[in-house]
Amino acid sequence: MFNKRVKIKHLLESVETGNEVTVMGWVRTFRNNQFIALNDGSTNNNLQVVAELGLLDETTIKRITTGSSLKITGKVVPSLGKGQTIEVKASSIEVLGDSDADKYPLQPKKHSLEFLREIAHLRFRTNTFGSVFRIRHSLAFAVHKFFNDKGFVYLHTPIITSSDAEGAGEMFRVTTLPLGNPPTTEDGSIDFKEDFFGKSTNLTVSGQLEGELGAMAFSEIYTFGPTFRAENSNTTRHLAEFWMIEPEMAFCDIEDNMNLAEEFMKYLIQYAIENNREDVEFLNSRLAEEEKQKPQNERSEFGLIEKLEFVLNNNFERITYTQAIDILLESPAYKKKKFKYDVKWGIDLQSEHERYLVEKHFKKPVIVTGYPKEIKAFYMRQNEDGKTVAAMDILAPGIGEIVGGSQREERLEKLEERMREMQIPIEEMSWYLDTRRFGTVPHAGFGLGFERLVQFVTGMTNIRDVIAFARTPKNCEF
Ligand code: ATP
Ligand code: MN
Repeated sequence: MFNKRVKIKHLLESVETGNEVTVMGWVRTFRNNQFIALNDGSTNNNLQVVAELGLLDETTIKRITTGSSLKITGKVVPSLGKGQTIEVKASSIEVLGDSDADKYPLQPKKHSLEFLREIAHLRFRTNTFGSVFRIRHSLAFAVHKFFNDKGFVYLHTPIITSSDAEGAGEMFRVTTLPLGNPPTTEDGSIDFKEDFFGKSTNLTVSGQLEGELGAMAFSEIYTFGPTFRAENSNTTRHLAEFWMIEPEMAFCDIEDNMNLAEEFMKYLIQYAIENNREDVEFLNSRLAEEEKQKPQNERSEFGLIEKLEFVLNNNFERITYTQAIDILLESPAYKKKKFKYDVKWGIDLQSEHERYLVEKHFKKPVIVTGYPKEIKAFYMRQNEDGKTVAAMDILAPGIGEIVGGSQREERLEKLEERMREMQIPIEEMSWYLDTRRFGTVPHAGFGLGFERLVQFVTGMTNIRDVIAFARTPKNCEF
């Protein structure tokens, strides 16, 4: 019954008239008991349907309300109204589902993003979220296309892990032990031998370590899956559950790694601009409207599309951590004591520092390499200076860190030495160290936070607005 339906996007793209078609969707507006704006989620552009006077009886007319769903059959005709070339002259209209106008939370007016977050189950039906989630879909598709075209193997790394060595963030425990009275060992601590897996387990914070195992056989792999961090940071760029893309490449050094990350980001941006033009343009205007509400000195210099095109057409700036610190120390912001956190060699760059470098100093994405080893993970390759590691972070305007990566330490002795220093259990990580024991090779990889990328491409300032149902501290609705 439903398979003869045409999608509104296709219908609006074709210029052909005279055909009889069936369309289905949800009513956005109904004017003068005659003009229906119908939307099926394939595009933000509504199809205008004209119900000529006399076609519908009183009761049906009353049932056509904002949010109700309709099945409409009619003829495609040239439109006299402005803003569309065609419309559908209905010959039959069937109400599939009513929507009580007094109770339906989405009215045909502008709602705040905060309000829409509370009704996230319905916000897909708005223009803003329609655009955001179609772009998110496209970007996800483009991730697979990019790597598939390059011959990378998509590896599904586990969601539940027992390894707690990654150190990327606080973890969520996975357990079936009774909360009230868990079994204990002789010394009174919880006996995880009794737990489901016979050991302590968590949700993964990263698929990297397993990804490395794959790269040591397939040469190049990538993961794209959910990751979890129980970090209690209520910011506009942290989620407790987010999606991460992690390529891992054998026969690859930090230079190759940076090149791939830059090429990848540009590919994704280009893909969205080409394949989601309409949605990107919609968000571009939306953002321009928002900017107008701000005081002059807080407005951004670039529009969304301008920003994206600028990023596409310019090389990312590449600097070392040491250079970054020098720039910060020389900055007017530092001299005028505008930074909340102190700047000196050895610090972990804070968001305010990253933003200064990207938004004020370079005004473009920046790749920072050569971080002090003390603030980075154990697996990063140690540089000759004995102080820094071959890490690289990509910082993006308005977002901060969007990519974190490194060349990995492939030398077994160096790696073990670092693990001992950082008190990482070498015995338990024997499977990981096997890659260095049996045919080790230089290799590198990075993690790109998918939501941060979607934020960058859509211009949405809050990460909660680019994932369907956000999981953040004290919030797990839907
Ligand atoms: P940050 O300093 O912003 O917390 P991080 O150093 O913890 O990031 P990594 O461990 O390097 O980040 O993770 C790789 C990428 O995953 C980051 O560059 C970022 O894009 C993304 N990411 C990290 N934590 C989160 C989070 N809580 N929510 C969404 N994305 C995240
Ligand atoms: Mn973090």
